[in-house]
Amino acid sequence: MFDDVVQFIQNIYKTKGFIPLHEPLFIGNEKKYLNECIDSTFVSSVGKFVAQFEEKIADYVGSKFAVATCNGTSALHIALLLANVSKDDEVITQSLTFVASTNAISYCGAQPIFIDVDKDTMGLSPKALQDFLEANTTIQNQQCINSTTGRIIKACVPMHTFGHPCRIDQIKDICDKYHICLVEDAAESLGSLHNRLHTGTFGKMGVMSFNGNKIITAGGGGCIITNDEGLAKRAKHLTTTAKVPHMWKLVHDMVGYNYRMPNLNAALLVAQLENLDSFVIKKRELASIYSDFFNKTACNFIKESKNNRSNYWLNGIILQDKKQRDVFLDETNSKDIMTRPIWAMMNKLPMFERAQCDDLGNSEWLEQRVVNIPSSIIEL
Ligand SMILES: *Cc1c(COP(=O)(O)O)cnc(C)c1O
Repeated sequence: MFDDVVQFIQNIYKTKGFIPLHEPLFIGNEKKYLNECIDSTFVSSVGKFVAQFEEKIADYVGSKFAVATCNGTSALHIALLLANVSKDDEVITQSLTFVASTNAISYCGAQPIFIDVDKDTMGLSPKALQDFLEANTTIQNQQCINSTTGRIIKACVPMHTFGHPCRIDQIKDICDKYHICLVEDAAESLGSLHNRLHTGTFGKMGVMSFNGNKIITAGGGGCIITNDEGLAKRAKHLTTTAKVPHMWKLVHDMVGYNYRMPNLNAALLVAQLENLDSFVIKKRELASIYSDFFNKTACNFIKESKNNRSNYWLNGIILQDKKQRDVFLDETNSKDIMTRPIWAMMNKLPMFERAQCDDLGNSEWLEQRVVNIPSSIIEL
């Protein structure tokens, strides 16, 4: 049924062998900087590459500060702690996301609330958010109280799915109105812009990931970006075991975390960042080739929406229904072409199944139909 798709993907990747979903690409100064790092012996949490990386990524996204961490999940955890999320608070996020966004809420002892996404962006729907808050909350002492549970809704974590920006400016306005701290999960959207501004810079804090499958990688890594100097300093402190800076004293002034990014990983990232612009261009070229092809088929290729520039981190298509989706997944994977469905909705996972939700109609619709197709950069 999908022989034409199989053939097309084998053609663009020039192989009938295994085609992964997303491979990293090391074509720049990676080995040079790694060698420098090893020769210096500063391979761990102290070294020049960490500071260099923080400066360069902040500069790239147009944010005042960046704090590097050992992965994106730990960056989310710290960002939520700095948003004052604590035990028995509530945090709004989308049901259709990678589990890390929700796990980080649980690490703080807080409860997630799952709100629907928009069908076109696959990110948190401002309309659904507004409707939920209007119907279910009151404002008391500049805090948003959930009328059903009596708990405080402290933060909101929208996510830019597969690199496609959600309607983040509208979400920001709603969060401001309801006194909710906006923490953007921009783990998938480095290089993606909304109204010409970088995703991750709309919220009080934004979070990025540099896991092996992301657009640039450090093996593992993450960062928090913010324009707030106080938050940046506290993020650094919390992620570095809350050690009080001193020439020789070993004093920690609170329970901190060892969430530092090692210098080795930062060395890799400084090199990867040098190629990010060309990666985004090549990914967008690949997306446009896919788009032209799928235009002539019954599958719907997912494109960036108005006022957005997507990094097209993972390309996606929408099949007609669940049955057709499963046929697609079976046929492509049995031909060694790696494809996979979008995540299972968070409210269906055993640890989150009691969470409060809205109707989640679009999430349900997308969950049954969306499939990711190979998205590694190719030399065209
Ligand atoms: C990758 C990712 C993260 C962070 O993942 P790490 O593997 O911890 O770096 C968080 N949220 C989303 C949506 C992601 O895709």
